[in-house]
Amino acid sequence: MKADRIIKNAKIFTSDKDRPMASALAVKDGKFVYVGDEAGLSAYEGPTTDLGGKFIMPGIIDSHVHVTMPVGFEYADLGKQIQCQDKQELLKIMSEYIAEHPGEKRYKFLFDRRFLHGEEITKEDLDAICPDAELQIQEAECHSLWVNSKLLERHGITDDTPDPVPGLSYYVRKDGHVTGNIFEGSAEVPIMLDSAMDLTDEQIDTALQRWIDFSVDVGVCCVFDSGIPGYPQFHERVYQRLRALDLQGKLPVYIDGCYVIAAHWEAEEGLKELKRFRQEYNTEHLKIHTMKIFMDGTQTLHTAALVTPYADTGETGVTAFNVEELADLLRKLNEEGLDLHLHCGGEAASRVALDAVEIVKKELGDAYHVKVTCAHLITQHDDDLGRFAKLGVFANYTPNWHADDPAPLAPILGEERVRKMYRSKTVWDTGALVTWSSDSIAFLDFMQWNPYQGMEIGMTRQITEKTRHYPFKRTAEVLPPLNERMNIEEMLLGYTINGAIQLGIENQKGSIKAGKDADFLVFDNDLLTAEQEGFSYNSPKDVYFRGKKVK
Ligand SMILES: [Zn+2]
Repeated sequence: MKADRIIKNAKIFTSDKDRPMASALAVKDGKFVYVGDEAGLSAYEGPTTDLGGKFIMPGIIDSHVHVTMPVGFEYADLGKQIQCQDKQELLKIMSEYIAEHPGEKRYKFLFDRRFLHGEEITKEDLDAICPDAELQIQEAECHSLWVNSKLLERHGITDDTPDPVPGLSYYVRKDGHVTGNIFEGSAEVPIMLDSAMDLTDEQIDTALQRWIDFSVDVGVCCVFDSGIPGYPQFHERVYQRLRALDLQGKLPVYIDGCYVIAAHWEAEEGLKELKRFRQEYNTEHLKIHTMKIFMDGTQTLHTAALVTPYADTGETGVTAFNVEELADLLRKLNEEGLDLHLHCGGEAASRVALDAVEIVKKELGDAYHVKVTCAHLITQHDDDLGRFAKLGVFANYTPNWHADDPAPLAPILGEERVRKMYRSKTVWDTGALVTWSSDSIAFLDFMQWNPYQGMEIGMTRQITEKTRHYPFKRTAEVLPPLNERMNIEEMLLGYTINGAIQLGIENQKGSIKAGKDADFLVFDNDLLTAEQEGFSYNSPKDVYFRGKKVK
């Protein structure tokens, strides 16, 4: 048989459990037609490359990123970063900045909540230094925002405005009055990105192109886009552009997209919209079939939902859906052939998901086929670790986080719980499908998007001076539990075939196997034996997407 490309004398990690390693492959019409040893190549002819033992792996699948949200952030400057020790100093610095830069429509600052030492900033504080223009302070973790009265007015937010998700994503109130502090995505993102709809097609394409170039360069061939909370119009706008790019042959990355809803009262409309998105935007490399829900928030803001209460407040946080509401949604998704992806920060969020799946699976038996993914899983309850495998729920971790500094979280979560974060190895060993992702909401320098950084930290649970990361992120110790460190094969499988199964494209992608898309990466060095410390500096020499050399 005539092949378009033949490679021999390579060390091929296939991610195919029936043939984990191979030394030769042949590609025709964008697909692998042969994978095996060199003897089997005798049936093929075509341009042949002897790789001299170089390492090959399947294209990487990052199964929880945000593609559409960062396009908005690309042009929405988060503002001047302020480093100071307390609230009074913060107000003074902002006030001086405003005096030195008169006439701006909106003043933006970035500030780390820790330096408030428990004090609160109110809209009155901000109105006093900025009565005539809009003012916003983005919290450094990007899960909350402080705004003045002008900005509340512009968005029509009053004491009577309902919260997008009470207790999870909301306008903080004191004695019934909004304070100007705004928590979590659905409430804050529409304000943070409120000029994104003014972007031109060219601006959107330019931002997307930067992301595409990065993805191609590191060998990410496939992603799950987990959307924008509270801002479907802009999300759709970016899908329009992605569709246009794909129709022009300019999208060498496969994107599995979503539609985001915030709470159960949005489910009906959300289903309609998700089906419309699937109808209108699906192209060869853009497929939309998944509902995305932020089930909870983040531990540091006490918006992550816990089974046992927070150590400091005694509260547990809330989930966007309860078990019955989620079970109801699962029945409808099942009927429509759609899937579900959930942000699950705390252990109660994943428990609600597991409970709902258990109910609906029991009810529907073989007729059940919704793929459910719980993402992040910062903390998980001991009793739930084995349930992912049993129920076929995907456990999606963000290994770049697996070296988080536990010290600031200890007073919030309690000593015991911070010593048991990110238990991916235990869940892997139960036989669950574990997938890896980088989850970042802004492109910036793409530091946290690097899958090799994810692999290094997933294996070491530490960030050292050898890690490709910001110096301030370095950690003194390995994050416990030590036995949650993964090995390289597990990192590679979670970034390839397991991701493909999560996205429902395992017949096309995720492993180097005859009949599948020829997405593969060539490295100068062998990833299977590479040093773990400094692994983050790896990068493919050549990248092939559907048989075409794109790097
Ligand atoms: Zn995310």
